[in-house]
Amino acid sequence: MDSPYQSESPSALQILQTVFGYETFRSHQAEVIDQLVNGGDALVLMPTGGGKSVCYQIPALIRPGVAVVLSPLIALMQDQVAAMQQLGVRAAFLNSSLNLEEVQRIESELQTGQLDLIYIAPERLMQPRTLSLLESIPLALFAIDEAHCVSQWGHDFRPEYIQLSVLHERFPNIPRIALTATADAPTRREIIKRLALENARVFVSSFDRPNIRYRIMENQGNARESLLRFIRNEHDGDAGIVYCLSRKRVDDIAEWLGKKGLTALPYHAGMNSEARKQNQDRFLREDGIIIVATIAFGMGIDKPDVRFVAHMNLPKSLEAYYQETGRAGRDGQPANAWMSYGLQDVILLKQMQENSDADEAHRRVEHHKLDAMLGFCELTSCRRQALLHYFDDHLPEPCGNCDTCIEPPETWDASVAAQKALSCVHRTGQRFGVSYVVDVLMGKDDDRIKRFGHDKLTTYGIGTELEQKEWRNLFRQLISRGLLRVDMEAYGSLHLTEAARPVLRSEQPLYLRKFIKASRKKTRSHKTSQAWHDAKDKLLWEALRDLRSQLATEQGVPAYVIFHDATLMEMVERQPQTLSQLSTLSGIGEKKLDAYGEDFLTVINEHLNQTTATPVDTADETLQLYRLGMDASTIATQRGLAESTIYTHLASAIQNGDAEVLEVTGLDETTFNMLCNAIEQFEDNNRLKPVYESLEGAYEYNILRCVKAAMLSEALA
Ligand code: ADP
Ligand code: ZN
Repeated sequence: MDSPYQSESPSALQILQTVFGYETFRSHQAEVIDQLVNGGDALVLMPTGGGKSVCYQIPALIRPGVAVVLSPLIALMQDQVAAMQQLGVRAAFLNSSLNLEEVQRIESELQTGQLDLIYIAPERLMQPRTLSLLESIPLALFAIDEAHCVSQWGHDFRPEYIQLSVLHERFPNIPRIALTATADAPTRREIIKRLALENARVFVSSFDRPNIRYRIMENQGNARESLLRFIRNEHDGDAGIVYCLSRKRVDDIAEWLGKKGLTALPYHAGMNSEARKQNQDRFLREDGIIIVATIAFGMGIDKPDVRFVAHMNLPKSLEAYYQETGRAGRDGQPANAWMSYGLQDVILLKQMQENSDADEAHRRVEHHKLDAMLGFCELTSCRRQALLHYFDDHLPEPCGNCDTCIEPPETWDASVAAQKALSCVHRTGQRFGVSYVVDVLMGKDDDRIKRFGHDKLTTYGIGTELEQKEWRNLFRQLISRGLLRVDMEAYGSLHLTEAARPVLRSEQPLYLRKFIKASRKKTRSHKTSQAWHDAKDKLLWEALRDLRSQLATEQGVPAYVIFHDATLMEMVERQPQTLSQLSTLSGIGEKKLDAYGEDFLTVINEHLNQTTATPVDTADETLQLYRLGMDASTIATQRGLAESTIYTHLASAIQNGDAEVLEVTGLDETTFNMLCNAIEQFEDNNRLKPVYESLEGAYEYNILRCVKAAMLSEALA
């Protein structure tokens, strides 16, 4: 999906590389940036994880003045700003969480041109004080994030977004960019109209999320166990979201997963806001947390390394399904969208719809959406093709990365069984629900059946060839396909529809998905957690994650703000040994290289040193050469290794008592003692960077590493 178009502005690509640490632009990024840099407006439709933020962040750095970013989610602004600051971008936010003093400080930074980016909540922007402040300073652009919030038809409607049309009136010369991951045409039209973006260039990217594997399975009454098996088999130690329909179910599942040894935290509107915030924060900040939530959770969640999204119920539309599953794998690494659903879900959603007090037009829309969702579940062909088709996007070939592609479901000619089911509904007077009709079909010995005289019907006991679960599966598909309607006013009784007629009359065969017994079904797993080459790689991965979370905790930011998983994985794969090798990895710009490079190199080098043993121990080779009188830099040249690697070898020789620290480092006793004291001050963690900085860079990391090794050897002795 990388577009050949790269930006006209040489500085745009340069900023992408040096600030963000990425090699090339994706999709429409470069074109959008050029449009804004040239003063035009843009509407950007890109899937979650597509890289929308760069579209305004880079113009913010190129154009003079501050860029104003409007976002509805004040809870997330702090993390967004922290992520920018990590890149060395001057960013701040203005929202109701700040006290007066903080507000004044930021306002004065705005007035004195000290900011590149300011994040503001729409309601704050509308305050006369904010508007007149903005009118008095140079502005680079306005970015309206989550722009679908202006849509009254959408489920994220925010009234304060409607007022954003004033931007056009009060700041006619400032370019505006609206961004959303909601793709459908009506929403797009509404955004253009309400935000007065008629002159904006519209950029629509493909909505495919190729790294997400879609899987839908039937709930045979054991959804909880299936979920646990799925997490244990495929997502050990991963972060994920589990969606449930009700608050009670959220609490139950979270507690149950907790008992099974997983870290699963609940999130729903019934909890107090403090507890909710705490769970959300832990999910964002710590590694490997599972959040169990109602759909209230997740909008705007920027966490890039959510490895799975599990649905314990059917979402009410494909839009919702796409949006919720889309929270997995924003970083582009493999992720799973897993769903369990059953007859009960179908009935419940139909019921909610019948009881909805929406007007006729709305109801029709909802009805259509639910039918599309149900049809999607029962598909026997590629799910991704169907999903994209629904959003007017097209995938020419089956994807190969969804359950129906991987294990094509078997179908069977269900015409005769369906006829039996439909006529049994008819003969019992269209007054009963699924369970009762199934009992009649199976010829159950039951008082109620006898009382109604249904044991005398021709359809009584004609369905013994299928088991009860198989009948329920069949009924679910008949309801999903609209051959039967569930009447909620009449206690869930089944009614025949027009669509049932051709099947009943044998005018149309009916092929359905074959029922698969849970126990017989072999589930092929999709391990999205990294399959490491060997145990050593896994150890390095864990050591890198530990360092990352230590750095994140120190600064009170989420771990992914330091480095994404993808960057750490590249470290494991490529094992860089110098700063310049490190700088070529994706996601490492100048600022982060400077801030964290040495710390990560230390971990990598220590790891290499411990693991690269046989056949000729490489650290040993260094020691031999050292004993022959070579210094570190000569050994490095001779062996074609980085000097820092040689020092790591020497450090471990020192630690093992095979080399003498003063000799290796050339330090005198007094300086050595001084350095020991300096290192001791930071003893609570394993990092040399604070030591290095406290000494103002006077002593190289290589030297510090050796001194520390000497201290460790003394500590051991
Ligand atoms: P969105 O807001 O569209 O969901 P983000 O802006 O958060 O997506 O970007 C998703 C991820 O992709 C982020 O980790 C971001 O740093 C990364 N990214 C953005 N642009 C590029 C690029 N050109 N090359 C590589 N990674 C990129
Ligand atoms: Zn597919």
